[in-house]
Amino acid sequence: MCSDGRMERKRIMDDRSNVVLKLNGVSKSFAKVEQDEVTHALDHVDLEMESGEFISLVGPSGCGKSTVLRLVAGLIRPTLGSVTVNENEVDGPSPQRGMVFQKSTLFPWLTVEKNIAFPLKAQGKLKENEDKVEHMLDVIGLRHFRNDYPGQLSGGMAQRVALVRTLISQPQILLLDEPLGALDAFTRMNMQDEILSMWREKRQLALMVTHDVDEAIYMGTRVIVMDANPGRIIADIRIEEDFPRNRSSQGFIAYRNMILNRLHFAGEK
Ligand code: ADP
Repeated sequence: MCSDGRMERKRIMDDRSNVVLKLNGVSKSFAKVEQDEVTHALDHVDLEMESGEFISLVGPSGCGKSTVLRLVAGLIRPTLGSVTVNENEVDGPSPQRGMVFQKSTLFPWLTVEKNIAFPLKAQGKLKENEDKVEHMLDVIGLRHFRNDYPGQLSGGMAQRVALVRTLISQPQILLLDEPLGALDAFTRMNMQDEILSMWREKRQLALMVTHDVDEAIYMGTRVIVMDANPGRIIADIRIEEDFPRNRSSQGFIAYRNMILNRLHFAGEK
């Protein structure tokens, strides 16, 4: 690694808001209802991540990607092993670990503007951050819909609101469970850039599940490839390309081929 990289790493480590997130030998099993069987959603997963990283999780359905996010969010507990943030065990949800789900989870009784402002209001920080709400309305192109309720929006519009509602409070760890899956290609690419610019400004730790290999490479500093039965990590690939990335560069295409190759062989024992 070049000395610039070392300096950057040292700067991040010196920053007291730095977080180190670890999955230590994590297994998670679920009982199958009405069957005497168990699903091994994750089997002895070890993973270490820190602020400044953007981790993309890819793999076939059922390989445990969402389970990883839900464990880090503190929504579920491991069957074996532990999840820690700066050596403290995660034992429940925290505003420092903000999650965006596949389907938008807006408050139906609040307008678009009030949904976006909600986290700031809950933390008593709305007054000094009102311009952020305005900025977010512009980012998602919904200024004219600020007084509408979620039930009046399309699925894609609602998802954009859900995304910025989580981003606005700048959690230390940003958990993204296929946040852009429901968007059209053009909006999706805009949102990818917007998420990246917010992440680069604050250097949080971002952990994103996606089915889209190009999105994983375009956004990730690391791509974790998983496989199912039992859920586990089969590759941990550092993406050594500068931002903004060029989807048609030779380096990008090489990463795409490498990851698709790993995914192609996923499932073969
Ligand atoms: P992915 O996000 O990679 O598609 P998941 O993490 O959602 O995978 O699920 C991994 C495995 O665990 C799947 O076989 C899924 O059916 C099972 N699973 C996940 N959550 C539960 C649950 N709450 N109860 C029972 N089985 C579950």
